[in-house]
Amino acid sequence: MNSFRTRFAPSPTGRLHLGHVFSAIQVRTAADRAGGEALLRLEDTDLGRCRPEFEAGILEDLDWLGLAWDGPVRRQSDHLGDYARVVETLRAKGLVYRCFRTRKDIQAMTDGRPDAPFQSEALPAGEESARLDRGDAFAWRLSLHRALEHLGSAVEPLRFGVETEEKMVWVQAEPERFGDIALTRKDSPAAYHLAACHDDALQGITHVIRGEDLIDAPHIHTVLQALMGWPTPLYRHHRLLLGPDGKRLSKRDGSMAIAALRDAGYGQDAVRKMAGAA
Ligand code: GLU
Repeated sequence: MNSFRTRFAPSPTGRLHLGHVFSAIQVRTAADRAGGEALLRLEDTDLGRCRPEFEAGILEDLDWLGLAWDGPVRRQSDHLGDYARVVETLRAKGLVYRCFRTRKDIQAMTDGRPDAPFQSEALPAGEESARLDRGDAFAWRLSLHRALEHLGSAVEPLRFGVETEEKMVWVQAEPERFGDIALTRKDSPAAYHLAACHDDALQGITHVIRGEDLIDAPHIHTVLQALMGWPTPLYRHHRLLLGPDGKRLSKRDGSMAIAALRDAGYGQDAVRKMAGAA
């Protein structure tokens, strides 16, 4: 296997904007410098928000920019069975539970703080089967305390390596910052953490390079990796491109969409430059 393999993993919930292209260029350039590979993965398990036309748009925009990828493109929605098998494996170990809580319940339990760790428990068996009989939707959640108990002292303390330009540092994982993460959602058969960690392992990703909005994700990814026997890659986080208002670019900033810039007459080189390419 190649000793450096990374990936660009957009979610087709909108068109690509300059921030995505900045990230894609970081990923491609890092792989080229290391003589390694950069894969393209479409993270489209949020079936309610992802659309085939956004996927087509992403592929078209990357192609137009001349950003090419190694190996076949992996579309996560084609592999939902893979993620279901991980949930089954964790279920067999007694580490997951069905969570019927609504968004409102969760907000009330976490004082409305979106990043507060959420923790719950399985319902008593009778109540759970009544809700299942009623057809109530649920998410599978990983019970963090059971997961940590299960891992016990059998593994090294959970930690991960973060690379910066100058050095590599080991960071002690603090998974309690995440609480019980959702492995599936009521409306999505695989949630981000599960699908991303599974695919990083499956695809032999050695370096995860992504925006600093996901800087904390390895704190919980190391738990999934340890439970599943998956290797922990090294992590690099790049800065986020900011819009004229000083806020990070988002899909709402339509003017920064690659398609809009192309329609306004900008060429590939100009757009790559705007996205910070040398
Ligand atoms: N699909 C994620 C996003 O578009 C990226 C996740 C990752 O790189 O791990 O924000």
